[in-house]
Amino acid sequence: MNIGFTTSLPVEVIIAAGHKPIDLNNIFVTSNAKKYVENAEFAGYPRNICSWIKGMYSVILQSDIDAVIGVVEGDCSNTHSLMATLQDQNIEVIPFSFPHDKNRTMLEAEIAKLEKYFGVEREQVLAVKKRLDRIRKKLIKLDELTWKENKISGLENHLWLVNSSDFAGNPDDYETRLDAFLPEAEKRPPLQTNFRFGFLGVPPIIDNLYEFLLEQNVNVVFNEIQRQFSMPYPEPDIVEQYLRYTYPYSVFDRLNDIGSEIKKRKLDAVISYSQSFCHRQIDNILIKKYVDIPVLTIEGDQPGNLDARTKLRIESFLDMLRY
Ligand code: SF4
Repeated sequence: MNIGFTTSLPVEVIIAAGHKPIDLNNIFVTSNAKKYVENAEFAGYPRNICSWIKGMYSVILQSDIDAVIGVVEGDCSNTHSLMATLQDQNIEVIPFSFPHDKNRTMLEAEIAKLEKYFGVEREQVLAVKKRLDRIRKKLIKLDELTWKENKISGLENHLWLVNSSDFAGNPDDYETRLDAFLPEAEKRPPLQTNFRFGFLGVPPIIDNLYEFLLEQNVNVVFNEIQRQFSMPYPEPDIVEQYLRYTYPYSVFDRLNDIGSEIKKRKLDAVISYSQSFCHRQIDNILIKKYVDIPVLTIEGDQPGNLDARTKLRIESFLDMLRY
């Protein structure tokens, strides 16, 4: 069966049950994204609701998805209503929660609930985790080739890490492609860039942001949330792994991770990306307050290329860093 989900979650359970995991965000943003948003608006989704939610709604209705796991705590409050409208269209929905206070017992119970739903034992899930962790270790190497050696572009880093939420639906194929990519990247000369940037926040809905930055001699050597999707902490325990995953919990967990990666990766500045109509925009208040290097906030709304105003803001920010 094809099991869609609304944000990274214990994908090990889906795979252990013999199903194909599908991160709906990745399908939305890599196909006809504008059309998906338009279709959801046509179905009545308001204009002033985030495009990702609208995109996922349409993807689910227009793709071969058998059931959807909606992360109803720890991701997006809009997911509640998304799930209701899907249920109304006879789509099977399964709720999953990351407890806001990082309560271990509650997270353990959520994972156990998912295992029960899919009829798998913890042993099977841990065997899958072991297999996925081998791939995740290779992604740590890929990330290091980005920030230590500047041999991988921010876009490539973004694509590999963002796709690790569902391993593009096929971990074996993903690993084969990764095994071919890594030695090729290792042989490259380092990129000649002037600035090392971090990208904070949800993955961008904007198509050409990384390319534009590279044209301006900026490489993004830290993709915060995408890296979180790749579960970069080698934890043998599955509950611990999803407790260390910062995205679903408080912004202060994110800030701790961001702070240490800024130092380790010697970043010059960060872009704090936010999505129009997203509650996470409020987190920018704390990001600007606690991140101690220059921060440029940019906002994306509809899928598509960078608009002229945002390009100009990036150029002005770079001018400011130069002088
Ligand atoms: S960008 Fe924000 S509003 Fe949109 S789906 Fe993600 S969390 Fe929800």
